[in-house]
Amino acid sequence: MPESFIPYGRQTITEEDISAVVETLRSPFLTQGPAVPAFERELSRVCGCNHSVAFNSATSALHASCLALGLGPGDRLWTSPVSFVASANCALYCGAEVDFVDIESNTGLMDIVNLKQKLREAKQKGKLPKILVPVHLAGTSCPMREIAELADEYGFKILEDASHAVGASYGGSPVGSCQFSSITVFSFHPVKIITTGEGGASLTNDPVLRNRLESIRCHGINRNNFESESPGPWYYEQQSIGYNYRLTDMQASLGLSQIKRLPTIINRRRELARRYRDKLSESSASLLKEPNNCESSYHLAILRIPHATPNQHRLIFEDMRNEGIGVQLHYWPIPLQPYYRKLGFSEGQFPKAEQYALTCFSMPLFPDMSNNDQDRVIHALHKLLNKHGLSRSLEEN
Ligand SMILES: *Cc1c(COP(=O)(O)O)cnc(C)c1O
Repeated sequence: MPESFIPYGRQTITEEDISAVVETLRSPFLTQGPAVPAFERELSRVCGCNHSVAFNSATSALHASCLALGLGPGDRLWTSPVSFVASANCALYCGAEVDFVDIESNTGLMDIVNLKQKLREAKQKGKLPKILVPVHLAGTSCPMREIAELADEYGFKILEDASHAVGASYGGSPVGSCQFSSITVFSFHPVKIITTGEGGASLTNDPVLRNRLESIRCHGINRNNFESESPGPWYYEQQSIGYNYRLTDMQASLGLSQIKRLPTIINRRRELARRYRDKLSESSASLLKEPNNCESSYHLAILRIPHATPNQHRLIFEDMRNEGIGVQLHYWPIPLQPYYRKLGFSEGQFPKAEQYALTCFSMPLFPDMSNNDQDRVIHALHKLLNKHGLSRSLEEN
């Protein structure tokens, strides 16, 4: 009898979550009722931000946020090569160009030294980005204070892709407070921290951006401030072009129920991360670094085996899977995707990102994971590091 498969991540659904959704199903509104605004208010409160606009995915939220920030043809957006493709695709939806800033190896986050260098060069060529999208990989915030200083100096806007980072904090403030950015985006896909099935949100302190985001979410329709005189009470105006990017009330009621457990969820994720760190402290592998001023939400437990060759990395990955442990790579660098290669990107442009993809992978971590299951993962990893010649004692010789 094989042991059960342990996935890298899994949602937690309680009876209370189910009742909350059922209650909405019995109510007059399946969509555009009270649950979406209630979820938005709660999200704003938890993150210490003035406005939240819920979307049917983080992908939609990123697209709408780029539009709200005025991104269009001729503009440039820069992001991290180590992210989900949506962080970059949002630029292409708007007809803008995309480019990447290589990462820092210990954290997997966009490298500030690299960013400074690239900005200096771009300024000389007159090719500065309009938007920078820092990605809080695994739920660990990028160095936002430093990035915000560069935004002041070079005049770009900051859109945080915090899809992994609901419940995280940076410099003592919650991620999503938008202290150092124009907009912060979250994802509520089931593998993320809290879920609405599909869903996302854009948070901002700027009421003008809030209004734009709401308009883009719903066809560019405005129901309050008209350009023409209202011919009657039935009237609404489409004043720009938008989309149907709305979240439903069924989804929002699930989100509202889930967000109540956010502190519990984050505590358990941090506890599991701490156990990984403790039990790997004597090994040749470790979790990515969590900088001192960050409290990660630990959406992912990304393991790094710095001395592994590409072949050792691959064999350990395959053997972990064969042991029933659902390791996963987050992420193969976006510029190496065939679609991005066709745009002109190629190997060698982002060497740290490439090195990352050949030395890192995500280990199982989710709130319902038992300590026993985690011990099984750790045991298998120690065994495989040994098997493939990566035990610490060998490395030290
Ligand atoms: C999941 C994810 C997205 C997209 O989220 P969806 O809600 O699935 O659209 C964007 N960026 C990052 C970094 C993600 O992990």
